[in-house]
Amino acid sequence: MATATVTPQSIVKQTKLLINGEFVDAASGKTFETPNPSTGETLAHVAEADKEDVDRAVAAARAAFDDGPWSKMSARERGRLIRKLTDLIRENAKELATLDTLDNGKPIFETSNVDLPLVIDCMDYYSGWADKIEGDTIPVSGDFLNYTLKEPVGVCGQIIPWNFPMLMAAWKLGPALATGCTVVLKPAEQTPLSALRLGELICEAGFPPGVVNILPGFGETAGHAIAAHMDVDKVAFTGSTEVGRLVMETAAKSNLKKVTLELGGKAPNIVLPDANIEDAVKGAVTGIFFNQGEVCCAGSRLFVDDSVHDEFIDKLKNFAETIPQGDPMDENTRIGAQVSQEQLDRILNYIDSGKSEGACVVTGGARNEGAGTGYYVKPTIFTDVRDEMKIAREEIFGPVVSAIKFSEVEDAVKRGNKTNYGLSAAVWTRDIKQAHRIARQIRAGVVWINTYNQFDAASPFGGYKESGIGRELGKFALDNYLQTKSVWVAL
Ligand code: ADP
Repeated sequence: MATATVTPQSIVKQTKLLINGEFVDAASGKTFETPNPSTGETLAHVAEADKEDVDRAVAAARAAFDDGPWSKMSARERGRLIRKLTDLIRENAKELATLDTLDNGKPIFETSNVDLPLVIDCMDYYSGWADKIEGDTIPVSGDFLNYTLKEPVGVCGQIIPWNFPMLMAAWKLGPALATGCTVVLKPAEQTPLSALRLGELICEAGFPPGVVNILPGFGETAGHAIAAHMDVDKVAFTGSTEVGRLVMETAAKSNLKKVTLELGGKAPNIVLPDANIEDAVKGAVTGIFFNQGEVCCAGSRLFVDDSVHDEFIDKLKNFAETIPQGDPMDENTRIGAQVSQEQLDRILNYIDSGKSEGACVVTGGARNEGAGTGYYVKPTIFTDVRDEMKIAREEIFGPVVSAIKFSEVEDAVKRGNKTNYGLSAAVWTRDIKQAHRIARQIRAGVVWINTYNQFDAASPFGGYKESGIGRELGKFALDNYLQTKSVWVAL
């Protein structure tokens, strides 16, 4: 699809809610605008779900789970359906990538070459799990046969963020569908479009009505209604720690629905003096500038050994200043626009706070007017950052890295761990023993050694501490969607 032919009218085909296999208007008749962050122009008016729509979607998901053809379908047939959907996603990958780029502001290069391949991988992977979920027989005492049944948890509310719209939908839907759950999925209000197109593909693949319902809407209304619903058995949330706390509280105050959370981060990226500096610089760039820094596992605290610090920062600066930033639909662009005005303001506020607390801007530190009229922020590097500064403590969710010097490895690890977050970390060194030792010492769910931002559908992802509860991906995510039943038989 050539850049010139893409207009909102040509690409945005679906703007309604998917409830019980049909695309419908919101009960209130309300819609909301979804803008293109690279221009500020409205892409589409999308139906705005609220409590009444959530009630209808949950009722449909409940009926599909309790009595529908889905509940009677064999596990193998379920796997086949997921595979069919995966094929449809593959066939429509360019269109889905384009929708995410237009809606989110991230480069088409990235949505085409990173997001969509990972989406396809994820769905492929979980299609294979559907008929491989097995219980155990347990050698209990006495004359009994004891075995476990692995059963789907039921109706699942899934609330996802805007930074990887398609990918977050896949991470949630893959394990839920493989285990036989039914779903009410709420995409973020900033990026509802690809989820709706995905809804069309779900219908085309032949999923029975009510198995997947998709409700664009706002967090405090539709999101809250999902988290509070008495007939939702489980809620899976990805987003900020602040909202994750609210979701958990709401779940606790309603029906104690099961909760899994994938939340914020403030990852330490630690460069030891014996590291391959070229690789570590590339890793630091990927770590913080990938996806405009709107990544929960972004390497936002860059700990660099004193002895290599100046050389490292010099190289990092040169690299950062050559990354093409601009129109996300241009195939050459590697950094696009931030998702919204709100996000832009938030990041610029953090940059101001870094400056006023005495950190030094090596490059960037401002909006990038030259890249276009959209919400562009220049890749920004701060040095002379102290641990107690706001930019070293809080998640910025933008292309802003805080470089911090250290002279003792133990000290770097200790300071790296001194955060309420614990999602990810990285270490760069040629000393294999040291690398594995640090991997053990870091209190985070993912540690990368001499690499950054590696993902695979088979490998778990999730946080320690206030970065979350539970793991996504791999066989681990299946547990989020399963109940274990113990059955006793007298012999
Ligand atoms: P961010 O701060 O990155 O925008 P949020 O954590 O606010 O991310 O949002 C992530 C998702 O959570 C979105 O789909 C949003 O609509 C939803 N959300 C926001 N507030 C609530 C809430 N109070 N209850 C349930 N969901 C919410």
